[in-house]
Amino acid sequence: MLENLLKGFIIIVFLNFTLISCSKSEEEEKPLGYLQEESNIPDYDNDPIYSKANPKNLPTYWDIFVESAALYGVDLSDITDVEFISEDLSGGTAGRAIGSCHDYVKIQVDETIFRNLTTGEQIFLMYHELGHDVFNASHDGGGLMAPNVRSIEYTLFQKEVEDFFTGVDYVQWTDEECEFIRELLKTETQ
Ligand SMILES: [Zn+2]
Repeated sequence: MLENLLKGFIIIVFLNFTLISCSKSEEEEKPLGYLQEESNIPDYDNDPIYSKANPKNLPTYWDIFVESAALYGVDLSDITDVEFISEDLSGGTAGRAIGSCHDYVKIQVDETIFRNLTTGEQIFLMYHELGHDVFNASHDGGGLMAPNVRSIEYTLFQKEVEDFFTGVDYVQWTDEECEFIRELLKTETQ
């Protein structure tokens, strides 16, 4: 009699224990799995490089451009003559590369327009303009250097950045084109 009671008690305790441990592990796993899923979707906001871009602090776009280039073995750390100029560009232009075909980097930004762009558009625009100034890259390469500002999906943008820095989508202006650009910039920025 006592033996049976004891057996029953042990079984009950055991069942309870498994039930508790079961529900406990479920509780632990569910929210964790949910959180992991949320933060694992890569986007501009959680990307280790792009998330450092700050539209209210324009030089941060130079910093992330340098970091992106380094990912593909392109070292831009010796370039120090870099300037972002806030300018009313009117006519819907958010940014302009005016250091193209020169040995400096100078980007004009209409901050009123720029700040209203999405994060993806802002980063695309800056990488595009810096592509002109740093590498004298023309629009002919397409991809990152395609001449229209567009909202760009994160994964596609990553591919375009890779193709640019690895030279797949990259065509440099010819000397003649550069001469023309220098003349154009001279008259336009006077
Ligand atoms: Zn352009």
